[in-house]
Amino acid sequence: MKLSPRPAWLDDVRPNPYADQLASGFRLLRFSRPLEREYREFMLEDGFELKRIALGVGILFWLAFAVLDQLLISDGARWGMIGIRLLVLVLLVICAWLMMQRRHIYLLLPLSLVCILAFGLGAAAVVALAHRSDPGYPYEGLLLVSMAAYFLVGLRLSEALACALAVLLAYVGFELLAGLPAARLINNVLFLAFGNLIGALGCYLLEFKSRQHFLVSRLMRVLADHDSLTGLHNRRSFNRQLERLWRHAQREKLSVALLLCDIDHFKAYNDRYGHQAGDKALQRVGLVLESAARRPLDMAVRMGGEEFAVLLYDIEESEALRRAEALRAALEAEAIPHDRSDTAKVVTMSIGVACLQPTEQDNLSQLYERADRALYLAKADGRNRAML
Ligand code: GH3
Ligand code: MG
Ligand code: MG
Repeated sequence: MKLSPRPAWLDDVRPNPYADQLASGFRLLRFSRPLEREYREFMLEDGFELKRIALGVGILFWLAFAVLDQLLISDGARWGMIGIRLLVLVLLVICAWLMMQRRHIYLLLPLSLVCILAFGLGAAAVVALAHRSDPGYPYEGLLLVSMAAYFLVGLRLSEALACALAVLLAYVGFELLAGLPAARLINNVLFLAFGNLIGALGCYLLEFKSRQHFLVSRLMRVLADHDSLTGLHNRRSFNRQLERLWRHAQREKLSVALLLCDIDHFKAYNDRYGHQAGDKALQRVGLVLESAARRPLDMAVRMGGEEFAVLLYDIEESEALRRAEALRAALEAEAIPHDRSDTAKVVTMSIGVACLQPTEQDNLSQLYERADRALYLAKADGRNRAML
């Protein structure tokens, strides 16, 4: 297993937070601040089922060990042990009830920590109490709690390690109070400490892989939704966003505008300057369009070839036309030389604008058809213009 996660193909990927984090590494199991927040939120959602199942299994184990206590211990210590088991059980049942309420998702992590600590501290107290009447009473249950913290509950290494160490220290304290012979205590503590070491190492590798998988899967999603030449959204992403905005607009009675952009005489540009220069020009067009989609719901798209689009939400028709005209002017101002163009001596584009406030009856394809028709008119009218 390679802990250096930098695969060679990262060099071919446009800079984005996921690729950058993969490249810079995360051996200390921490991402840059916004990514770390995203990862923890993802883990919270992802680990929800696991945590619920783990708690259910843990409660069953707890009850099974309570029955075992009755077989192993018969003197007065037994009542103390039953008392501790009951106390922990009540705490676990309250935590389980809170966990079932999905609206308490942000309580999930603190609840998991409370449960693990309740299991661990409860087991440590029970074991120390039992050792007062029978020093041979099994203490290995404590190791089961630590293993659950490392592997079962979906905790991060730092959280699992903190819980396991707290349990180990509490165990030592309880045993000192209960007066377990030193040789036995040292034997037990060594066994638990080595068990924890193995658990912590396994947990480190697990979290490392989980983080790597998170970054790679998010990166794949970015790559699947963006055009590799310009970095703009691609048609797939556009279709999804248009459907989403369309439904939003129907519900909130707001307008959606589509600006369809097509570069003028681009075939001639390629013929004159070469395909590579053509690609560079497309990238510059991409930068111009990107600046037009700054609000969270807006989107700049490379539809394919030399055709682009800008999707704008909650905008009046006149404002959409003004924005299209500003875009057209911005590309002209880039002054990318094009001496084979019949329209201007620089690269220009034509833009078809459509703006709709959709009702329940309206079909989403109407917006595209209107913008396409407007684009055709803009081309027919002499190019390098924006038309409704
Ligand atoms: P019009 O003004 O009518 O839009 O003319 P046009 O030449 O721009 O239109 P046409 O559809 O005939 O040609 C589009 C050209 O865009 C053809 C193709 O060579 C070029 N093209 C499409 N995709 C790419 C690309 O990824 N890179 C480069 N360099 N050129 C591309
Ligand atoms: Mg075209
Ligand atoms: Mg064209």
